Amino acid sequence: MADKRKGKAAKPLDIVFVSSEARPWVKTGGLGDVAGALPEALAAQGNRVRLFLPLYQSVNRALRRIPADGVRIKVPVSARIMEGRASSVDMGGGLEVWFIAQEGYFGGRGAYVDPAGIEYPDNLERFSFFCRAVLEALIIQGEAPDIIHVNDWQTALIPAYLKTTHAGAPVFKRAKSVLTIHNLGYQGLYHPSLWHLLGLSWDLFNPRWMEFYGKINLLKAGLSFADVITTVSPTYAKEIVAPEGGFGLDGVLRHKRRSLSGVLNGIDADEWNPAADQRLAAKYDHRSLEGKEICKKALAAEFKLDEGDGPLLAVVSRLADGKGMEILLDCLEPLLDLGARFVLLGSGEKWLERRFLEIAAAWRGSMAVTIGFDEALSHRIQAGADMLLVPSRYEPCGLTQMYSLAYGTIPVVRAAGGLNDTIHQYDPATGKGNGFKFEEYSSEALLSKTLEAMKIYSGERGKWNKMVRSGMREDNSWGRSAKTYLKLYRQALASGDL
Ligand code: ADP
Repeated sequence: MADKRKGKAAKPLDIVFVSSEARPWVKTGGLGDVAGALPEALAAQGNRVRLFLPLYQSVNRALRRIPADGVRIKVPVSARIMEGRASSVDMGGGLEVWFIAQEGYFGGRGAYVDPAGIEYPDNLERFSFFCRAVLEALIIQGEAPDIIHVNDWQTALIPAYLKTTHAGAPVFKRAKSVLTIHNLGYQGLYHPSLWHLLGLSWDLFNPRWMEFYGKINLLKAGLSFADVITTVSPTYAKEIVAPEGGFGLDGVLRHKRRSLSGVLNGIDADEWNPAADQRLAAKYDHRSLEGKEICKKALAAEFKLDEGDGPLLAVVSRLADGKGMEILLDCLEPLLDLGARFVLLGSGEKWLERRFLEIAAAWRGSMAVTIGFDEALSHRIQAGADMLLVPSRYEPCGLTQMYSLAYGTIPVVRAAGGLNDTIHQYDPATGKGNGFKFEEYSSEALLSKTLEAMKIYSGERGKWNKMVRSGMREDNSWGRSAKTYLKLYRQALASGDL
């Protein structure tokens, strides 16, 4: 095992990373964070990374000039030949970003939905074109990748093309495909009458490959054909092979269990660092928490909360199904009654927004709510709060609990998905643990766990501050995640045909 010998670096890999979004170019959610950060972290560890994205109108062109010329690509879509272009921006340090342009599919439009929030009706055609255009661009370039890493349903057709229509292309001879599931709830389901747009044999429209209860399931194409499947936390990898967490695909995932594993997302330590965060009233680090006190006072003043000795509890979350907001509603008043103060930043389902605003109106001075999406405020809350509540029913990885650790805010979480993997129950006897964790999805369980945390906050501040400091020193960076992905890539390459 030459690679393991001290002083002998492993051979760099040629990695193609394909995503429908990546920050800072275009981001609509967590996938955009991952697809922006992970390619950078892989390149920083000495590998060559080509990141492919669609060139939507909404791509941020102010960052770099995206060349208007580029490689011309032709993709047969049903009876027509659709033309597109691939052009690249060299980011330096081993990272190139490749944009696939196609006026009809991506020009004048955003990623998935129109301005009214309605899904584009031709998304199957747009993303199957994108997948095949990426493969055509790679064939024209002629530089063989080791790994082709795709993400979620939008790019999940690539493993299927690699094993069927493109199986003979010499440039893909040694390539292994990796599919990462960021959220199994979104699968890309379409009516079978659209099959002719995919350019795949009709034989694949059966439950063994891509059919799902009479529909085309694009994510299932990736699950059926990828050499390696990952998801964004080890616990989520276990949850999705069970009927309760499998969104109907648990059977397929059980079948592929040997190729499935969980790799935790990381956090961007440049973006989330209280020692350098310009958005805060004061900067601080684990050595001195005085700045955090200043941030807490500033946050209370910003939200017009009364002064008090109780802890300041916070939520920063989409107000959506799965986030556990229903169980939070019932325990707010008992917590406020006991002297806690509470702030919430979120937006989403209207009935939840209304309920939180109603309770805040009844508890003015103790509780305040901001409805909206406000990045800077999310940083000020993470810095100013004592505890962050994350009671999710399911959570593939979750980022807010890792931000809160970095900002010295103790997370109280339900043991779901990545929350279970990143947060370890505090034990006052040993001082071990970085937060508070409950199992049962109920208001009672959330309330009693929060009260347990409050007791230590109020009664044993020395222990509390020690826990805060050690959470701030944890390494949840992308560098750690990138190392795990590299290990998986190398295992796949070493194993030949899986
Ligand atoms: P999910 O992707 O399911 O929403 P994550 O915890 O993985 O959950 O990521 C959520 C991200 O969105 C975090 O970066 C969080 O800070 C941010 N976020 C959620 N709601 C808001 C909001 N209302 N304002 C600002 N940032 C928000």
